[in-house]
Amino acid sequence: MVSKILIANRGEIALRVLRACKELGIPCVVVHSTADADAMHVRLADESVCIGPPPSRESYLNIHQIVAACEITGADAVHPGYGFLSENAKFAEILEAHGITFIGPTAEHIRLMGDKITAKTTAQELGIPVVPGSDGEVKTEEDALRTAAEIGYPVLIKATAGGGGRGMKVAKSEVDLIEAWSTARTEAAAAFGNDAVYMEKYLGQPRHIEIQVFGDGEGNAIHLGERDCSLQRRHQKVWEEANSPALNVEQRMKIGEICADAMRKLKYRGAGTIEFLYENGEFYFIEMNTRLQVEHPITEAITGIDLVHEQIRVASGGGLSVKQEEINFHGHAIECRINAEDARTFVPSPGTITHFHAPGGLGVRVDSGAYQGYKIPPYYDSLIGKLIVFGRTRVECMMRLRRALDEFVVDGIKTTLPLFQDLVDNQDIANGEYDIHWLENYLAKKPA
Ligand code: ADP
Repeated sequence: MVSKILIANRGEIALRVLRACKELGIPCVVVHSTADADAMHVRLADESVCIGPPPSRESYLNIHQIVAACEITGADAVHPGYGFLSENAKFAEILEAHGITFIGPTAEHIRLMGDKITAKTTAQELGIPVVPGSDGEVKTEEDALRTAAEIGYPVLIKATAGGGGRGMKVAKSEVDLIEAWSTARTEAAAAFGNDAVYMEKYLGQPRHIEIQVFGDGEGNAIHLGERDCSLQRRHQKVWEEANSPALNVEQRMKIGEICADAMRKLKYRGAGTIEFLYENGEFYFIEMNTRLQVEHPITEAITGIDLVHEQIRVASGGGLSVKQEEINFHGHAIECRINAEDARTFVPSPGTITHFHAPGGLGVRVDSGAYQGYKIPPYYDSLIGKLIVFGRTRVECMMRLRRALDEFVVDGIKTTLPLFQDLVDNQDIANGEYDIHWLENYLAKKPA
């Protein structure tokens, strides 16, 4: 049993985890950089520790400071949120070595999924469908040419250590290939300090569909359905929905069961997300995230299960609170990521929020640490809140979303709210007809 949780994160997710701890009656400690002393999660916490100056690597990524904060406050567990140290196997190991529970999977599983080639091979061994591609790393030009000829053009060169969509290059023909292969390697070396690359068939118009899984670490695992995160800009998700407008119940249960079964074989512990590209009725594994996702609330909305409660329960050795057959998927949920950015140029807009009014009413949830007078620091990502709306049907959800967006007021800074006001009235969106390129095409065509 964990008795005191330290939340090693900031912003809306720190607040999200704090709320779960309060509900469960578990004492908790928050940490913050000097730039976040006035953040909402710090204001609402019973105990807080300043762990360093604004730059993340000196505060939220500083393992020694976080372990010291646990020792000073007597915290015996750490919730890492998402980003920062959440997928850092070394961090999980160091905590365990200090007798502190990492609320997440084992270091071994984090490492397994952190390397893309190993992740893909493992997924395939576990029975998960993958994108056709090279057998491991593509080391030479000859290797690249031969593999591409086998799988057929267009192909995609990807960095083994990749993340955030960096180090990826498409080649449409042999002529492009050598250049794509060498620039991908150079970019990967610069971005990740590792120039290893591999090759995949390039899918033209896929959707991004991901499956939420949960394991108890003992060989029991469940899936909580899918999220459609196809609406992206520069590989960053913008709008997510559950269920996917593209899947029916049979398809959902089939891919969900494949994923849950894989997690049983792996004896996976905690929350995980298996990400797929989906095209012409087929799923292709791209990666697994071994942590809670930003978009987890839409799964909570359609299943009624609190994923953070579940994470804490599993980490405490309490097992899963539900069996697969007890999970009911009902209704429809959409999440809009509200960023402090210009809705047209996407240039960040830090500064002071002079007026803040979050929408409410039935089926509306706002996860945000923002408040009137809050000064958004320029050091971190620009997500300032998430609007999550639920309806019994997708149509009802969209009606409610339109109304909630009308009510939302954030003054003093620019936000991406106007983008969502446009999207909610768009016919393709209303029809659920979009792929991973839709949003960028739409933005490129939009008059200034
Ligand atoms: P990263 O870890 O860098 O985000 P991913 O493997 O998750 O890399 O891929 C990021 C994005 O790149 C995907 O969401 C998709 O938009 C695109 N992508 C990845 N693999 C393919 C592929 N084989 N074909 C087409 N697009 C792809």
